[in-house]
Amino acid sequence: MSSIAIIGSGMGGLVAGNLLAKKGHKVTIFESHSTPGGYTTGFWRKGFYFESGTFSFESSQHVFSVMKDIGVFDKIEFTRQYGRWIAPQFDCVVHSWNELKTAILDAYPSEKMYFTRYFAEVDTMCNVMRSLTPPKNVFSAIAYPFKLMRGMTILKKYDKMTASEFTAQYLEKDSIGYQVLKDMGYPDMSALIIAGAVLSFLEDYWTVKTGMQSWADVLADNFKKLGGELMLNSYVDKIITKNGVAVGVSCGGKTYDADYVLSASDYKKTFLKLLDDTSMLPKAFIEKLENAAVSESFFTVYLGLNLPYEKMKEYLKVPHVSYHTGQSVDFNNTREENFFEKTSCMFYSPSLHNPELAPKGKSSLMITAMSPHKWMNNWGVGNKQMYKKLKENVKNALIEKASAIIPNVKKHIVYDDAATPLTYERYTHNTDGASSAWSWNPHKRFYKNIISTRVNTLVKNLYISSCWSNQIGGVPGAISAAYKCAKKIQ
Ligand SMILES: Cc1cc2nc3c(=O)[nH]c(=O)nc-3n(C[C@H](O)[C@H](O)[C@H](O)COP(=O)(O)OP(=O)(O)OC[C@H]3O[C@@H](n4cnc5c(N)ncnc54)[C@H](O)[C@@H]3O)c2cc1C
Repeated sequence: MSSIAIIGSGMGGLVAGNLLAKKGHKVTIFESHSTPGGYTTGFWRKGFYFESGTFSFESSQHVFSVMKDIGVFDKIEFTRQYGRWIAPQFDCVVHSWNELKTAILDAYPSEKMYFTRYFAEVDTMCNVMRSLTPPKNVFSAIAYPFKLMRGMTILKKYDKMTASEFTAQYLEKDSIGYQVLKDMGYPDMSALIIAGAVLSFLEDYWTVKTGMQSWADVLADNFKKLGGELMLNSYVDKIITKNGVAVGVSCGGKTYDADYVLSASDYKKTFLKLLDDTSMLPKAFIEKLENAAVSESFFTVYLGLNLPYEKMKEYLKVPHVSYHTGQSVDFNNTREENFFEKTSCMFYSPSLHNPELAPKGKSSLMITAMSPHKWMNNWGVGNKQMYKKLKENVKNALIEKASAIIPNVKKHIVYDDAATPLTYERYTHNTDGASSAWSWNPHKRFYKNIISTRVNTLVKNLYISSCWSNQIGGVPGAISAAYKCAKKIQ
C-alpha cells in the first residue's frame, strides 16, 4: 500500500482518488475550494442552480466505462444534450451531423456548392476518425493496419492546419458561412478538431440532469466510502522533493508525506509555483513552460428569470443554444473594446433540463462567451473600479444578445451575476482561467500531438492527473489522465 497525495478535486483528482483508494492505497485529496469538482461544479443562488464550468462532455463510452469501474454509474443521471444553432438566416435544433448539413444547405442556397465541398472533406475526416476505433473481430483486424495508414495521412494533413485556414479553402472570407464555421469550437483550433467536434457535439454530447455538482458529489462520497480523505479549503502551497523525487506536499503550514504526488491541477503552476526545487528541471523546459499558450477562458452571465418552464421552452426550445452573430472578431486583439458586442456566445438553461434547478415558476439562464486572453489589460490590471466597469459592460452586452431569443429578457431578471476569466482562475487556479488546458491552436502546441495523454513528469513519483496531460484537455482528457495515473501505481 502506498500513500498518495492528490492536488485538486476536479474530475482528474476525483477519478484518480477513487481508482487508487479502490486498490487499497491511502489517498488524500487536497482541494483549495470549499466544494469538490473543479470545473465540474455548480452553485446555488436564490434557489437557482448554475454550472460553474463545463455544462457538457463527450466521449461517453470512455467516461461511462470509468464510472462503471468505480461503481458509481447508476448513481448519476447522465442525459443527452442536443443543441440549437442560431446564425444569420439560420435557426435549427439539430440531432445529427446529417440534419445540420441539410439545414445549412437549405438556409444558404447561393453558397450551396462551397458548403457541399466543405462538408465532403469534413465527412472524410469523420470517417477516418470512426474507422480508427480498435478492431472488434478478425476481419476488421486484418483491414485495420491499412485503415490506420490512410487515417494517419489524413490526420497529418489537417493536424497542423487551423480551422480558419481549412474553412477559407471552401468559403469566401467575408461570407457568413465562413464566419460561422470557423468559429465552431476554440479560435484557430486545429482543423482536425472540426471532425472531433462534429462527432462529439452532434452525436455524443451529454450532461447530468441534476447538475454537474451532483456528479462531483457522488464521486467525492464514494471516494470517502473507499477510505479516502478529502480535505476541502486546503490549498497545497508546495510539492516537496528529495533528491529529485516527490515525497509529499505542504498545506496550511503542515507537511504531508507521500510515496506519490498527483497534480490534478494546472500544469504551469505545478512546476513554476508549487515545486519546491526547480533546479532539477532543465532551463529549456522552464522557458518553454513560461511561454506556453493556454486555452481561452470564458465570460459567463448567470441569470435567474421570472419565466416559467413552459415559456423558457418556447423561447430556447432546448437547454443548449449556440448563437452565432456572423460578425468577425479577432481573439488576438486584446484591446478591442466592443469585442463582446460582436462575438458569438452560448445560452444554457440548467432548469430546462430539470425544472427542480430553479424555483417554481422561474428559470435559469447562463450566457457564455469566449474571451481573448488578458482582454483590456487583463480586465483592468488590478484596478477594482475598472474591473467592475468592464464586467458590468460585458454583462450588459451579453444580456442584450439574449434579448434576440427571449423578448424583454431584462424585465424578467430576478437574479444576476457574472464570472470573468479572473473569476475562473480564482476558483480553480487554472492559468488565466484557461478553460481546457493548453492552446487548441496547432501553431502554439505544448505537446507534439493532440491525441496522447502524458502523465509522467521530469520529477520521479510526480504525475499529472488533470486535463493538462492532454493538449486540449476536457473532461475526457482529465479522466484519461486519472485512469493512466491509477494504472501506474500498483
Ligand atoms: C465554461 C466551460 C465549458 C467547458 N465545456 C467543456 C465541454 O463541453 N466538454 C469538455 O470535455 N470539457 C469542457 N470544459 C473543460 C473541462 O471542464 C475541464 O477540462 C475539466 O473539467 C478539467 O478537469 P481537471 O480535473 O483536469 O481540472 P479542474 O476541473 O480545473 O480542477 C482542478 C482542481 O484543483 C484545485 N487546485 C488547483 N491548485 C490547487 C492547489 N495548489 N491546492 C489545492 N487545490 C488546488 C482547483 O481548486 C480545482 O478544484 C469546459 C470548461 C469550462 C470552464
